[in-house]
Amino acid sequence: MQYIADSWQRFAACKGPHADLFYPPNTVERREERARREADAKSICAECPVIQECLEHALSIGETYGIWGGKSEVERRVLLDQRNKRMRKLD
Ligand code: SF4
Repeated sequence: MQYIADSWQRFAACKGPHADLFYPPNTVERREERARREADAKSICAECPVIQECLEHALSIGETYGIWGGKSEVERRVLLDQRNKRMRKLD
């Protein structure tokens, strides 16, 4: 969480020394390193009191980078696709 704008973000469990787990490093990251980093980030998300708010925020702004609400960018894309399909069925 880089920018503390919304009130829910004040309660983010990822503030502080863990913040670098949530985004890939500027250097090359091997697949297993990425998997480990993301698993560590998601374990913090799992204990976060604002996980749902965080996920909804990331989905609403189309955040394409990092772990938000316990989901990777790929997982969020899948969620958005599923929601969009459901919405189209309701039309
Ligand atoms: S759900 Fe994860 S990324 Fe979102 S605020 Fe909580 S710890 Fe940070």
